[in-house]
Amino acid sequence: MSTAGALGKDEPQRSRHRIKALSPQLVNQIAAGEIIERPASILKELLENSLDAGATRIRVEAENGGVKRLRVSDNGQGILKEDLTLAMSRHATSKLEVIEDLDKVATLGFRGEALPSIASVTRMTLQSRTDDSDQGWEITSEGDNRTSEPRPVALPQGTSIEVRDLFYNLPARRKFLRTDQTEQGHLVQVIRRMALARFDVAFEFHYNGRAVMHLLPVASQDDARIAAVCGQQMADNSLKFDESGGGMNVRGWVSLPGFSRSQRDMQYFFVNGRLITDKTVSHALRQAYQDVLFHGRHPAYVIYLEMDPAGVDVNVHPSKREVRFRDSRAVHNFVYHAIHKQLSGSAGEHGSITVMHDAVSGDSRSGAATYRPGAQQGIPLSSPVRQQLQSYRALHGSIADSAQQGVAVGDEEVPPLGYAVAQLHGIYILAENKTGLVMVDMHAAHERITYEAMKESLSSKTGNGIPTQSLLVPVTLRVSDAEQDAWERNQGVFEGVGLIMDRMDEKVLVVREVPEMLRNSDVPQLVRDVLSDLLEHGVSDRVDETINEVLSTMACHGSVRANRSLTLEEMNALLRDMERTERSGQCNHGRPTWIQFGIGEMDSWFKRGQ
Ligand code: ADP
Ligand code: MG
Repeated sequence: MSTAGALGKDEPQRSRHRIKALSPQLVNQIAAGEIIERPASILKELLENSLDAGATRIRVEAENGGVKRLRVSDNGQGILKEDLTLAMSRHATSKLEVIEDLDKVATLGFRGEALPSIASVTRMTLQSRTDDSDQGWEITSEGDNRTSEPRPVALPQGTSIEVRDLFYNLPARRKFLRTDQTEQGHLVQVIRRMALARFDVAFEFHYNGRAVMHLLPVASQDDARIAAVCGQQMADNSLKFDESGGGMNVRGWVSLPGFSRSQRDMQYFFVNGRLITDKTVSHALRQAYQDVLFHGRHPAYVIYLEMDPAGVDVNVHPSKREVRFRDSRAVHNFVYHAIHKQLSGSAGEHGSITVMHDAVSGDSRSGAATYRPGAQQGIPLSSPVRQQLQSYRALHGSIADSAQQGVAVGDEEVPPLGYAVAQLHGIYILAENKTGLVMVDMHAAHERITYEAMKESLSSKTGNGIPTQSLLVPVTLRVSDAEQDAWERNQGVFEGVGLIMDRMDEKVLVVREVPEMLRNSDVPQLVRDVLSDLLEHGVSDRVDETINEVLSTMACHGSVRANRSLTLEEMNALLRDMERTERSGQCNHGRPTWIQFGIGEMDSWFKRGQ
């Protein structure tokens, strides 16, 4: 970065060692270094400002990756003519007055740094008109932060900010910009995030003169925005949920295990409307999915957590992407349990969950609708996946309901997965139930049942304690002060999971016994992972997770392989086991174990009754 602004060339040599205040220009450029990496970072700040100003329609225009030109126009409340110049100066904000305000920041911005930082690395034009003014005003600024006097300009109510030639005065930074196409991709990603944060706002994106995105405003829980931003597949393959407790609310969409992704590219987590990345939260989600996702696959989700703003510090990083939770353990538990509950399918019991595609196209022959009272009706079924989703919910709902009431749901006592009628190619079981035809992948289903049974017997056999085995050669490991401290404070936790340890020396721990199932695993690594979980989140499920991984492998090997013929009795027994087993909707590897075809859908294959 050039320092020409701070140390003029005309300064005598000796002033090199004198202390001088940085010029405002340099201060802004340094701040810009923290928040402005590329055009997309500017777009993020401008969109946040538009939303803070109460805009309901936002139009974005960009040329050449946004490097050459980027413009954001909104219909928000606008800026007074007298404030235009101030808005461009450092630490000037309308959103915060006293330090206490920081505890309850409800706006996306509050640091008053964005506009001056952007202005210091671009050529910027700011136009605005408030609702009580009969015309708009415009000021311009070139990188040196010399802003022009306001000039009148024709403009509807709102604000329009245009920046050109990003980093024109910082060639070194400019070199780090990628191809236009890559930068455009980042711009789109920013618009997507904002669009997920605010369903009620319309977004338009014009790139190189062409309209490339137009999102209409919708109600806050409407799948249409999810479909528009994340794709119809995500909308079709996710569970919509809404849970409250402990002063928090969490709602949103989580992908069904069958719809996992190879990358973490479709994971959005908002806290009080702000998109964040947070280790506690990602840990909670990873854990919620770990039983149902194959290793190396990632879930997709759009999740909104609402909580008391006083419980979360947003002033942690200039880009405001990170937050600090006052009680991260409570947040961890709340998020984990809410999501885990969706995935294990027992949420219906509490009646607080809304099921996304639960309607059964008004088909009165289908029993599924009766399982889930209050579900929306009338969404036409289009894909088998959607059907599978419904059946999945319906089955779990029905198990939950009948367990609660002690009687079977519906007038006939047909079990949810029905009765076996045949086996196909030694791989699939065909069964008839009230809704129509059920197709079961024998191997996957058996694997899931075995896995859950092994887990169950492990926890019941051992009660509290997991069977342990003494190590012939105890493992010693050197730990930090903090780690030693964490161990001392949590000895009960370690014993509870079968890790029997002592302190051998100052900062040296020795592991004497480990859970039997983990005798062949990397013990020091496991202990370290547990310690770091404890330090970071206050809790650790690492040992359970590892045991489950081992169980899952064992289950896979112990399960019925394909190509074995089963008798009808055996098939029916498998179906009944599936109904009793938690999460039998998918195998341990995240593949579905069964699919439902409704009679209505089959009729439509043959164009019956049309
Ligand atoms: P911050 O958002 O942290 O307050 P900014 O530098 O981003 O700081 O913006 C400075 C001020 O300019 C804001 O506090 C707001 O009053 C005003 N402002 C910026 N953009 C807009 C806009 N699109 N509509 C209305 N006011 C705006
Ligand atoms: Mg701002």
